[in-house]
Amino acid sequence: NQQILLKSRPTGEPIEKDFALVETAIPELGQGEVLNRTIYLSLDPYMRGRMSDRESYADPVELGKVMVGSTVSQVVKSNHPLFSVGDFVLGYDGWQTYGIAKGETLRKIDPNQVPISYALGITGMPGMTAYFALLDVGQAKPGETVVVSAASGAVGAVAGQIAKIKGCRAVGVVGTDEKCDYIVNELGFDACINRKTKDLSSALKAACPNGIDVYVDNTAGPILEAVLQHINLGARIPLVGLISQYNAENPSYGPNLMPLLVKRALIKGFLVGDYQERQAEFINDVAQWLRAGKLKYKEDVVKGLEKAPQSFIGLLQGQNFGKLIIQVGDD
Ligand code: NDP
Repeated sequence: NQQILLKSRPTGEPIEKDFALVETAIPELGQGEVLNRTIYLSLDPYMRGRMSDRESYADPVELGKVMVGSTVSQVVKSNHPLFSVGDFVLGYDGWQTYGIAKGETLRKIDPNQVPISYALGITGMPGMTAYFALLDVGQAKPGETVVVSAASGAVGAVAGQIAKIKGCRAVGVVGTDEKCDYIVNELGFDACINRKTKDLSSALKAACPNGIDVYVDNTAGPILEAVLQHINLGARIPLVGLISQYNAENPSYGPNLMPLLVKRALIKGFLVGDYQERQAEFINDVAQWLRAGKLKYKEDVVKGLEKAPQSFIGLLQGQNFGKLIIQVGDD
């Protein structure tokens, strides 16, 4: 059995020496276990995270252990009643030519539906990511403009095409002109931008004349920054991946958005003006709480209009203590 182990944790971009290819004997099969011959191993961006021992939503691969990964395999020996020799299965056997897995962790694949490798992509985890990111978090609606980064990849290509199916304008961002050509001419995206273009923001503006309603963000970084300049009122941004940051030792671009993804947190824009019609609700409650002593309030009163500039500068440095107001005249 050939295995690829994680030998060392990369600093920045992984290098070949971080991996080790070894030859091992295949162990005896235990009760309920299945021996699989790997046919396809999925390589996915999340693996960069598993190589690192930075805190993450999943444990890192231990040094000296087989790199993890989804696999499509064929059963060669089975101690499990549901699996027979010759079955095709989706599993998580990792970077090795043979894997032993508990039957419960495997899913049978029907080779007569679509090519078996699809289970690692469009009909598997990446496809499902695209589907729910776009439709559940993104709430894409007909007529809206959907931008997708890493748009020719496993997730992005599916997201853009579903956007088209749903009657949206789909705009992809990719890394080469060849990929652009593919997503527009083969996949039916309406427009494409090469992310290495000098002025991403103007390119997005031109490709999205009606602004951006949904951005399926696979990359974060500069693409997210440019997209934000063109989002429409009520836009939705499923933060799916931050691949532009995966090799960074310290997130190099703006705040680290990873906790948003891990905690499935939502950032949503807010403008108080939108709540004008509910002002009475607010005043009733606050007046009542103030009267009851349930709310406390502190003012920082500075006397003299001439103090206004200095006070304002101080405010921006945190020098006020309480609500800053200038007393311009006697009360
Ligand atoms: P892809 O097949 O799209 O391959 C990765 C692509 O990312 C590359 O081809 C490249 O495309 C792009 N890329 C690489 N480096 C950079 C960079 N520095 N800046 C911008 N783009 C870059 O991968 P997947 O479709 O499998 O994954 C896409 C994203 O979705 C990843 O961030 C991944 O982590 C995330 N993901 C998240 C899941 C979740 O549950 N949250 C589940 C599955 C995936 P190009 O050069 O064309 O830009």
